[in-house]
Amino acid sequence: MGLVVEGLVKRFGDVTAVDGVSFSVEPGELLCLLGPSGCGKTTTLRCVAGLEAPDAGIIRLDGRVLADGSRGVRVPPHRRRFGMVFQSYAVWPHLTVFENVRYPLRFGARLSREEMSRRTRAALASVRLDEHAERFPHQLSGGQQQRVALARALVMEPAALLFDEPLSNLDAKLREEMRSELAEVQGRLKVPVLYVTHDQTEAMALATRIAVMDRGWTRQIGTPAEIYREPADEFVATFLGSTNLLPGRVEAHEGAAGARVRTAAGMLQVFSPEPRTAGDRVVVGIRPEHLVLHLQRPPGDLVLAGELLKATFLGPVTDCTVASGEARLQVQVPGAIAARRGEQVYLTVEPGHCALLRTKAVGP
Ligand code: ATP
Repeated sequence: MGLVVEGLVKRFGDVTAVDGVSFSVEPGELLCLLGPSGCGKTTTLRCVAGLEAPDAGIIRLDGRVLADGSRGVRVPPHRRRFGMVFQSYAVWPHLTVFENVRYPLRFGARLSREEMSRRTRAALASVRLDEHAERFPHQLSGGQQQRVALARALVMEPAALLFDEPLSNLDAKLREEMRSELAEVQGRLKVPVLYVTHDQTEAMALATRIAVMDRGWTRQIGTPAEIYREPADEFVATFLGSTNLLPGRVEAHEGAAGARVRTAAGMLQVFSPEPRTAGDRVVVGIRPEHLVLHLQRPPGDLVLAGELLKATFLGPVTDCTVASGEARLQVQVPGAIAARRGEQVYLTVEPGHCALLRTKAVGP
């Protein structure tokens, strides 16, 4: 059940835009394709929508094959039962809100006038636009116009929803409002939702799972918490939020206690479910908010001593830079701190907050 994409490949001449992408989206789930510009997010979505013909790979919705690249099977877009919302609202300027939302119903299964009106009113109510039904698009704000586009996608009672950067034309405040609205609509619908964005906050806020894409393939798929806490590699760690990357060498693996890793900042105890061999070269990723800053040396031998180079008070947190050994570490401390520039400070970190990252890209 749900939307399944297996081994999707799409080339444009010499450019391989999508290079073996696989994922599935269960009904009720929202999968975000997240990645930098040009990584192949939109092309993946357009292949799913039927707007591009894949060179290889299979796309299925609820068990039905929509496209099979190697066999040349391709169901036309209007037969795929997708609701789509794009960055540009693409609403008809000469039609009222009601007429815009009713529009797609004229092309699907034959429905009575009453049924069309009922569905249109329901779709408008679901995005709280019922009071604006008789307005024209130019009489609406950008956010309201995007809600018209959303209602138009919902009116078909689609089997799945596809979104391509739907919020990027809105200003920051509206974007936040629309984000909670989308989350609310998505919670009610029990269909798979595929959502393309390059905005990590949006992905973290909306996604059930995130697929982080880079140069045509997915580096990691997981829940927002998994991706943030256990990034698979350096690319994922740095793309989602800031992180301290510390190259190091494994000194010993101590079973459940994890591995001891010597880094430029000092010795760290790192949680590692996989056994590591002494001498292995690794990169340890630590989020700035996971380093704990102490003014007095705490007990234990796993303490990084350093000099406070910079402290910027931002209200809820203070962003600090600490020189420890050969490394410079970003540290985020809750509230204010009582240390000044140049003072000696100490850092500790839980082993579970040190992620062992793959250093080499793992290809498709
Ligand atoms: P953005 O966030 O900028 O939209 P994206 O991750 O969605 O980026 P795509 O638009 O899927 O990336 O593009 C992936 C690659 O394929 C890029 O190198 C792009 O230049 C190329 N590409 C996309 N569409 C075409 C096309 N119609 N013809 C040629 N190359 C294309």
